[in-house]
Amino acid sequence: MNKRVIAVIGLGRFGTTVAKAVADLGHEVLAVDVDPDRVQKISPYVTHAVIADSTDEAALQSLSLNQFDAVVVAIGANKQANLMTAMLVEEQGVRRVIAKAQDELQGRLLEKIGVDTVIYPESDMAMRLAQMLTRRHVVDYLQLSAQAGLVEMETPEFLVGKTLKTSGLREKYRLIVAAIRHDENLIVAPDPDIPLAAEDKLIIIGRDDDIHRLENT
Ligand code: ATP
Ligand code: ATP
Ligand code: CA
Repeated sequence: MNKRVIAVIGLGRFGTTVAKAVADLGHEVLAVDVDPDRVQKISPYVTHAVIADSTDEAALQSLSLNQFDAVVVAIGANKQANLMTAMLVEEQGVRRVIAKAQDELQGRLLEKIGVDTVIYPESDMAMRLAQMLTRRHVVDYLQLSAQAGLVEMETPEFLVGKTLKTSGLREKYRLIVAAIRHDENLIVAPDPDIPLAAEDKLIIIGRDDDIHRLENT
């Protein structure tokens, strides 16, 4: 395995979960927080755990973050600390910087600073839940771009008994069925000649307007 070396700064719920998950996957993790309790709590799970104020330039420099494959700035509520940390990490020439934003303005600032990837864990999950709660037949939803996404949906009634070949999904809706959830199994790249069952769930990739069109057929 290609072992990665990752640093996580800010050990709230999100940072702690990311740090543990990366370590669980067998990679090296440096976990950093200004709060000694949080550092102590995570230390059994990660390669190194360090108490440091990431807005203190000298302290941050001593971590040699430019040696890491990626640095995750997971400080959330304290926007000033989040932005200052992101800037100092960027200035150290870290290859890949990922930072958590709580709102869109903070996200724009992080992008101006040069952060490679801005993530919005709370609002992303909230948006996804809103879609799941309000869209007919939609079980799950993943936004792929401003105009396109991936949905898991119940098989529309008019498609039950049809095959992908006779469904017209690609021709009439410009939608591709990437997988079918059938009983407990996920059938990836499904056979276009197998009839769809009412209990099947379709995992569809396409433009949002095309997906909406199918949902409302
Ligand atoms: P979550 O939802 O993931 O818990 P949050 O924004 O609510 O996120 P906080 O409790 O704010 O989480 O967690 C951010 C963590 O970042 C805290 O453990 C806090 O001690 C740490 N932190 C804040 N400022 C600094 C700093 N300057 N240097 C290092 N760590 C910091
Ligand atoms: P074509 O010659 O029409 O391009 P093909 O050989 O690429 O077809 P097949 O796998 O034989 O494709 O499928 C025939 C038709 O079945 C496709 O043209 C398409 O309409 C439909 N189809 C097959 N797989 C899918 C899928 N995963 N999602 C949506 N439609 C599909
Ligand atoms: Ca960068």
